[in-house]
Amino acid sequence: MSDTFVFDLPATSTAAATAASAQLDLLSLDDAGLGGFLKDIGEQPFRARQLFAWLHDKRVSSFAAMTDLSAALRTKLAERAVLLRPLVEDVRVAADGTRKYQLKTHDGHVIESVWIPHASGPSHHALCISSQVGCAMGCTFCATASLKLTRHLSAGEIIGQVYAVLDDLAANLPVDPPLPPSKMRFRYDPEPDAAADVDADDVKMGRPKRRIQNIVYMGMGEPLHNIVNVIASINLLTHDKGLGLSPRRITVSTSGVVSALGRLGQETGVHLAISLNATTNEVRKEIMPVTRRWSLEQLLEACRAFPAERRRRLTFEYVLLKDINDTDIDARRLVQLLKPFRKEEDGKVNLIPFNAHPLSPFGRPDDERVEAFRRILDKAGVACFVRTTRGLDIDAACGMLGARKLEDARKNALPII
Ligand code: SF4
Repeated sequence: MSDTFVFDLPATSTAAATAASAQLDLLSLDDAGLGGFLKDIGEQPFRARQLFAWLHDKRVSSFAAMTDLSAALRTKLAERAVLLRPLVEDVRVAADGTRKYQLKTHDGHVIESVWIPHASGPSHHALCISSQVGCAMGCTFCATASLKLTRHLSAGEIIGQVYAVLDDLAANLPVDPPLPPSKMRFRYDPEPDAAADVDADDVKMGRPKRRIQNIVYMGMGEPLHNIVNVIASINLLTHDKGLGLSPRRITVSTSGVVSALGRLGQETGVHLAISLNATTNEVRKEIMPVTRRWSLEQLLEACRAFPAERRRRLTFEYVLLKDINDTDIDARRLVQLLKPFRKEEDGKVNLIPFNAHPLSPFGRPDDERVEAFRRILDKAGVACFVRTTRGLDIDAACGMLGARKLEDARKNALPII
């Protein structure tokens, strides 16, 4: 494994400037940004409210559709700005109703989003979205890692995935598929009581039920490596003139970019999921190179410093890799590592039996091993769930479609995009 550290990369650029275009990406701008843009092109800043509603409430994908703006203004907008919303290229539907989207960015890169319907109804449906094209973090069990990092996604491209999937659902799946009741909790589920709170908030604010009520930054990329655009996208998703999602409905997952954790905690009210996956620095360094920069101890210390209310819902993801991190000794060490969180009644563990794929040397532990691991945590009083794997038949593991495309391209010497 190379010693060049993954963070020796250009810093995240500002939200709107990420687009490889001389024109401004309006979908990445908040209302103040839109006001500034309108002023710059000689228009009244108050039009920002109208423009914001077209972009984030009505969610149109062209200036031509903004029918209450004058034709002259629409022409001017089309000359000076762009809407860089990713386009749905392919949808694969799994037997359990999960829909895996392959989307193309304006410059031809493939990213992925996964819509996960839940038997309890729309208030539990979730969308897993990407934050980068590829990923720099190099986790050895992850298919996306083989793609390496191409670039960060802009805030507009991040929320554009949500809008594109909502449009696809409205056009192609007007009614939810019949889903068998789920006995197992899985990682995208909000706590039932928290879901009830949020539903009450929605009713109070007159928000309609939507087909996506939970957003999980757990697709391609390391969200905290693209912290500026990820925070900008969260602000847009939670904006009351847009989708108006509660931050409690948003979870950001990280491999452990400790330097950005504080900023996420201070500037947003989202939940945090830590992809932990090992109980010693030695093993974690092997499977998650980010550990060479920040040790397990530094990561857990940063989690303890996360704002209290959000820490209460902290999730530790633990991918169980056969014979690597799935022994009884690992389970006991995990209990020890998470002791401080248990005392404060913070945190829960999601055990995720590895979803084996052709690009990975790792195997999936058998069900008895998973159960033995779970029992040790459970007996020690650690809140712990085995995550049901959704959409197995469509490669719903993080980065799988992109990785398969890469593999096909390698085999057939085809261009990757
Ligand atoms: S697991 Fe997440 S952080 Fe690690 S390489 Fe994959 S996408 Fe990146």
